[in-house]
Amino acid sequence: MAEVLVYVDHVDGAVRKPTLELLTLARRIGEPVAVALGNGAADTAAALAEHGAVKVLTHDASEYADYLVVPKVDALQAAVEAVSPAAVLVPSSAEGKEIAARLALRIGSGIITDAVDLEAGDEGPVATQSVFAASFTTKSRVAKGTPVITVKPNSAAVEAAPAAGAVEALAVTFSAAATGTKVTGRTARESTGRPELTEAAIVVSGGRGVNGAENFAIIEALADSLGAAVGASRAAVDAGWYPHTNQVGQTGKSVSPQLYIANGISGAIQHRAGMQTSKTIVAVNKDAEAPIFELVDFGVVGDLFDVVPQLTEEVKAR
Ligand code: FAD
Repeated sequence: MAEVLVYVDHVDGAVRKPTLELLTLARRIGEPVAVALGNGAADTAAALAEHGAVKVLTHDASEYADYLVVPKVDALQAAVEAVSPAAVLVPSSAEGKEIAARLALRIGSGIITDAVDLEAGDEGPVATQSVFAASFTTKSRVAKGTPVITVKPNSAAVEAAPAAGAVEALAVTFSAAATGTKVTGRTARESTGRPELTEAAIVVSGGRGVNGAENFAIIEALADSLGAAVGASRAAVDAGWYPHTNQVGQTGKSVSPQLYIANGISGAIQHRAGMQTSKTIVAVNKDAEAPIFELVDFGVVGDLFDVVPQLTEEVKAR
């Protein structure tokens, strides 16, 4: 069976959920071989083996320490040359997409970004993408070289599938470009304790209807009762009520959670572009004609200041 390379997104050896989802998809098209780089790379092996990695290629070097993608591209290129995989799967994070694009260019391959599903095909893996503000889904495959495919978080379930997970050292020679950039400073963002927006299983968002920064406490309370991330429409962000890092949509982040709850959001096409692939969509809006109701699974016509606190209490009571 063909091997499929999976780029491992991890923090000091703790594997992030989108990578485990990639392993589920990788098993559909071949045998997953994981590539873990940087501090704690070898510590990822147990979790990866539990979810189907037949092999874990590891390499640690100081070059991986920062948000610098070229060393990671060098390593993935070395892995592609060593394994000749059927495909390379990378999580669709900001970093993942940059790594994937550079890798595809390096190895002369085609790339598919933001896939939401993946299946085996006669001529290579077939990826499903959601396009034109999620108005259509397309199926495509890479026609040139080793397919490089980035996959959106929450596109597949995490499944236990115990495998060997044999750890092997990857031989990497860094290119001159690997040291061409260096990080000169970093500012830590205050942690909210909530899940990362693009990876969260549940997202609770607020829009112009929230009517003020202070009222976002209502949205946050619902999010916290559900263990969810908080999102915001551009109108709420532009008004200065919530940070841009939480904006969902065309010019914000693209999310695909199991559950998306839109509160006081009209459902403009640019907002839909970032959330329409959510598995279940719920909206609370006082205007029964709001376009958001065209795409919801469950809609509540009502004032969010009445509905959302009641919902929070109901969730907390369970
Ligand atoms: P509105 O459209 O004003 O809707 C507010 C809604 O709240 C209304 O439906 C109203 O009925 C409801 N409401 C009001 N009070 C209450 C209440 N008390 N209880 C319940 N409901 C209430 N937008 C994004 O979100 N993300 C993007 O990334 C993005 N990118 C853009 C890129 C471009 C190039 C452009 C041109 C626009 C972009 N926009 C984006 C803006 C987008 O077009 C909309 O203007 C925006 O999404 C509107 O935000 P909203 O739904 O919160 O506000």
